[in-house]
Amino acid sequence: MDTQVFQHSRRQFARSFTTVMGTILILFTGSLYTWEVHNQRWGFDEDLQITARVMASSIKVEPRQGQWRVNLNEVPFLGGKTQPIDHELVYVRWFDADGSLRQFVGPPPTLTLGDPPGLATVGSVRQLTIAVEHEGRRLGYLQIGEPLDTLSRSLQRLRWAVVLGVPATLGLIAGVSWILADRAMQPVRQAYLSLHQFTADASHELRAPLAALMSNAQLGILAPEQAPHRLEKIVSTTRRMSTLVETLLTLARQQGSLDLQALPVVDLAELLQDLSQTYAPQVTAQQLTWQCHLPPGSWSVRGQRELLHQAIDNLLRNALHYTPAGGSITVSLSQRDPWIVVQVADTGIGIAPEHLPHLGERFYRVDTARSRHTGGFGLGLALVKQIVAAHGGFLTIASQPQQGSQFSLHLPRVPSLSCHFPLASSKHG
Ligand code: ADP
Repeated sequence: MDTQVFQHSRRQFARSFTTVMGTILILFTGSLYTWEVHNQRWGFDEDLQITARVMASSIKVEPRQGQWRVNLNEVPFLGGKTQPIDHELVYVRWFDADGSLRQFVGPPPTLTLGDPPGLATVGSVRQLTIAVEHEGRRLGYLQIGEPLDTLSRSLQRLRWAVVLGVPATLGLIAGVSWILADRAMQPVRQAYLSLHQFTADASHELRAPLAALMSNAQLGILAPEQAPHRLEKIVSTTRRMSTLVETLLTLARQQGSLDLQALPVVDLAELLQDLSQTYAPQVTAQQLTWQCHLPPGSWSVRGQRELLHQAIDNLLRNALHYTPAGGSITVSLSQRDPWIVVQVADTGIGIAPEHLPHLGERFYRVDTARSRHTGGFGLGLALVKQIVAAHGGFLTIASQPQQGSQFSLHLPRVPSLSCHFPLASSKHG
């Protein structure tokens, strides 16, 4: 169903794009074709005019008995002393001033000048008739004819180029627009899928607490003496539900990469100090040892402070959940160019190797019963992974059952003139 919607939109986008580009292509090619046909015809006629003028210029006029006598001896094709002329004329004719045929080369014409001076198409021949004058007196008419087949062949080639080229280009446009449509749909698809995922995750995960709310409320009504206890259950379940919805919303909102250059610089050392202070009472209460290695130097990354806070907080909370009394938790900062590595290590229960590749998948819990007991949904690491990826970094996990785990956030360092300093440590717990 979903893919159908996207396919439909993709088809519509590709169709519109092809129609617009196709119309532009057809209009452009049509204009170009018309212009080229006109240009070739004009060139052909212009050539014919020049040839006729050259031939006319070799007509000699001799005065004889007070009259002008025309000598065609040196006119190419017509005369005996003709100069070669580079033209494929099919006929050349000379008509006297009264229009009667005097001399011709080529197929025999009618005996009188039929057409008025000018250009005409006679069958498959382009014919030009020019009037030849001398000192204001008309001597006669020169008529030449050239076959149109060279022009027709050239126009035919042009037509083929258009007939084959336009559909081929249209096909290409259709293909390109299909690919472009897919690219244009990607962000929409991504947004849709994340919304879809949110809805599916939320409805799946809210079913159980909603059922718990309902049964607690019913039991409270049926047995009023149990009402305070049932109400407490309802409050704690509601709290869990709101945590879940908030986490899912953050996951759904935080899609893709952040524009790091537009974000402020966050001091990770200050962030870790802040978190250490927050967790100090809990660490003491759980009888854990807390080590915090924050070497002096520049520990700046670009990003959203709240999101980075949430990612590290999730790792610390897990460390506290999964480390029994007597264990230790170490938080440290180190540089592994071009990364700043924030590591949260514990000596807790660890994770079996077969689970490691799945950590960070939504709702993946190593031990469902245990996670439920600790209040987890299997979303914490998914959120950490997503936040780090949005900041251009990545998360690595190393763990050994019954020995402990190390979660390392790799974040791109803000370039500075900082250098390495010896590690300093502080302890509480
Ligand atoms: P949850 O909210 O259920 O803890 P997470 O995504 O944070 O979900 O963690 C996924 C699973 O990874 C947890 O169910 C837990 O089994 C395991 N896990 C996470 N952190 C640790 C840790 N520090 N030590 C041992 N197991 C851990």
